[in-house]
Amino acid sequence: MISSKAIDHQNFDIIIVGAGSAGIAAAIAAARRGARTALVEAGGMLGGELLTGMTIDGAINARGEQVSGGIIDMLLERCEAMGGFVRRLNDWRLIQYIAYDPEIMKIAIPQLVYEAGVKVFLNTFAEDVVGGRGRVDGVIVRNKAGRSLLSARVVIDCSGDGDICAAAGARMLPRGADERLQPVSMMFRMAGVETAPLLDFVVDHPEYFAMGESEVIRGGRSDNELAEEIRRQGQPCVFIKSDGALLADAIANGEMYPTALVMIQPTSEARREVCINSTRVTLDDPMHTTDLAAALSELTRQVDVCSRFLRAKVPGFANATLSGLAPRIGIRETRRVAGDYVLTVDDVKAGRKVPDGVAKGCHHIDIHGEGAGQIRIAIADGGSYDIPYGSLVPEHLSNVLMAGRCFSADRPAHGSARVMGGCLAMGQAAGTAATIACRQNSDDIDVRKVGIEELRSELKTAGAILEGVH
Ligand SMILES: Cc1cc2nc3c(=O)[nH]c(=O)nc-3n(C[C@H](O)[C@H](O)[C@H](O)COP(=O)(O)OP(=O)(O)OC[C@H]3O[C@@H](n4cnc5c(N)ncnc54)[C@H](O)[C@@H]3O)c2cc1C
Repeated sequence: MISSKAIDHQNFDIIIVGAGSAGIAAAIAAARRGARTALVEAGGMLGGELLTGMTIDGAINARGEQVSGGIIDMLLERCEAMGGFVRRLNDWRLIQYIAYDPEIMKIAIPQLVYEAGVKVFLNTFAEDVVGGRGRVDGVIVRNKAGRSLLSARVVIDCSGDGDICAAAGARMLPRGADERLQPVSMMFRMAGVETAPLLDFVVDHPEYFAMGESEVIRGGRSDNELAEEIRRQGQPCVFIKSDGALLADAIANGEMYPTALVMIQPTSEARREVCINSTRVTLDDPMHTTDLAAALSELTRQVDVCSRFLRAKVPGFANATLSGLAPRIGIRETRRVAGDYVLTVDDVKAGRKVPDGVAKGCHHIDIHGEGAGQIRIAIADGGSYDIPYGSLVPEHLSNVLMAGRCFSADRPAHGSARVMGGCLAMGQAAGTAATIACRQNSDDIDVRKVGIEELRSELKTAGAILEGVH
């Protein structure tokens, strides 16, 4: 921490650091409720991982029930209104999710953020905090114009890496000595993919594809019947698995690098485009930017290798072209901040419901490992679990909240809740809680004094899904 000096100074009710799924949802929720809201983003676009082309997981459970509502609905309605591709899909493996066109999402997000009246800072890095005694009075940011102090009554850390909480001295949750962080990946897209031959290939060779990993999804069907369901869905939404001969042989003969799956999901019917999630490099700590930069060379090599493999070996890809790489290397896991409550693996697996739930998750426990390793554990009965308010409140800090990838959870629980449906819902909850906290007639705002019933009621009025979906 540093003391406040005579530098440029602006004042807000609420500052949100990080404009990924959690940060944009927090900012829209706060500003629509009248708070003077600043959104500080280190990069040059709004949306974080929402812009890469991956599907929104964790918004629809395996049974097909929606568990995340409100701002996510507003975003997807905007995408549809602009003719963007939006489809609810079953992966016939473990989960259901929402596919959308990331190019249209790039327009929908700024529309909603600016219409809400958020003050946006782009290319602006939050480097430190000002405060003490368990309070954060402001955030020191740096951009081309220099350094500034942005002060606020409540600060929400949506940086993914928990940068604000770390700068304020919060405790980070430990990782086991033998545990390595999940690999980083470069998502990419290919256009000109023909869906019919791809889906026929799935029906002819179901043994190459991941399917029916959850009993709720399998529903007593054989692999051949699941392959027919995938074809009936009519979308290029298929997962080539590393324990099937197609990928296993390619890895063995060096035609592919070791990976758990080649996940293929649609982004646009008009461009006949899919997003591919497959590349991976394991780092000791992706926050060490020199190591991250070094991984770019290997990740982009893997993009080239994987696109060649698909063109050569997978029907439907013969004439496909590489149409886009994610704007940055995707980071799945770094800091997890210790909160008043630590969401646990048992909460997640059992689909536990709690009275102070302010968001829900439903994605399977999904921990990517090195090489072909990946842990995938389904949620009980294909349902959902509650994310309690306490897991958004960092220990010992009174006017700070957090949402998204850095929230308080043990490692397996984090491996489930980290996906974008949950991050959007957590962000909406944190932004709403911050506006309720700002009603306190005090300079010493305490986010722990936010009434849970009031928060849940305001969230439900705004479309959040907090009841049912067992
Ligand atoms: C390769 C990969 C594949 C994935 N696949 C899926 C999937 O298919 N479906 C799914 O739902 N989820 C998926 N996930 C998980 C999901 O995308 C992320 O966990 C989620 O988007 C995190 O959201 P967030 O808002 O917490 O963080 P992010 O989206 O990472 O946003 C954080 C933002 O904060 C900014 N920032 C960071 N530090 C600072 C700072 N100090 N100052 C200012 N700005 C800062 C960053 O630039 C960034 O824009 C995947 C993740 C990865 C990496």
